[in-house]
Amino acid sequence: MSNNWQQQLQQALTNQHDKPLNQHPAFSDAANELFTHAITAEIRDVIDIHNPQDPVLRQFLPTADETIELQHFNSDPVGDEAATQIPGLIHKYHGRVLLIASGSCAVNCRYCFRRHFPYSQSFAPRNRWRASIDYIAQHPEIHEVILSGGDPLTQETKTLAQLTRNLTKITHVKTLRIHSRIPVVLSQRIDHEFMQWAEPLRLKKVMVLHVNHANELTTKAQNAIKKLKQSGFTLLNQSVLLKGVNDEVEVLAELSKKLFENNVLPYYLHQFDPVQNATHFMIEETTAKEIHQQLQAQLPGYLVPKLVKEIAGEKHKINL
Ligand SMILES: *Cc1c(COP(=O)(O)O)cnc(C)c1O
Ligand code: SF4
Repeated sequence: MSNNWQQQLQQALTNQHDKPLNQHPAFSDAANELFTHAITAEIRDVIDIHNPQDPVLRQFLPTADETIELQHFNSDPVGDEAATQIPGLIHKYHGRVLLIASGSCAVNCRYCFRRHFPYSQSFAPRNRWRASIDYIAQHPEIHEVILSGGDPLTQETKTLAQLTRNLTKITHVKTLRIHSRIPVVLSQRIDHEFMQWAEPLRLKKVMVLHVNHANELTTKAQNAIKKLKQSGFTLLNQSVLLKGVNDEVEVLAELSKKLFENNVLPYYLHQFDPVQNATHFMIEETTAKEIHQQLQAQLPGYLVPKLVKEIAGEKHKINL
């Protein structure tokens, strides 16, 4: 069987496509050594390479800014290491568990806190999902299982199917949620096999996409989103508020509108976590609140994402 998306994934992770970013004049080898760059050809295509301020370029290009380390920035800002019950399972919030279903992604976003957290070691390899499944079965209050990562859609569909065969046997699990950036960066992943798996699942299905700028919603991405809708997913989006990417009310308003045109509702706008080596993306909290208030003044309530922050030890994300 031809698995075109897997080839594209490999090409992204090794940057073996025809327009790698390492030719860019601002590419920093030192930054790349701290966290290897990775981008898919598809999302690379939307970048205006002659514009150093391009909002998509900024998310993927390793630059010298990343070698700056500031004191109050750290490498596990959200306390995930402390909340890991079983390798690959994070039970921090009531009724929901997060399964680290993959250690890798199709792209490496420079602002990501995964650049420090050892997800690739802690993610549950297939033969170790047993312990997580048992934990979920033993906790009747867990009604929602969230597949996260890394990016869970880097896993093959047959692996996801094996997981859901086990999850669907647990009657108190009602909802399967997937957090993924892949539909917008590697749209071919949402293929026929994926739809055939997802569509008949008895679980409620939610996909939380991760889009930061309207430019990421390419024709290909919109097509993948359409397929997700057809397969019965409720579609939400989370963004991270990032300096030089989407820290303007017009940019966020355009994103919300374009998401809605594609049947996706904005869910969260994350106040940037103080991730070490990504300090140049930081927006002050007061500025974030101002931008958010301006957004509320422009858009219907359902198109305004909640401005939230994750605080280690809290029982839910905190509204700002
Ligand atoms: C964000 C998050 C969730 C999901 O929270 P929601 O508010 O339901 O979106 C669950 N577990 C962890 C560890 C999280 O960080
Ligand atoms: S896709 Fe998500 S998890 Fe992966 S690098 Fe980007 S922000 Fe981090």
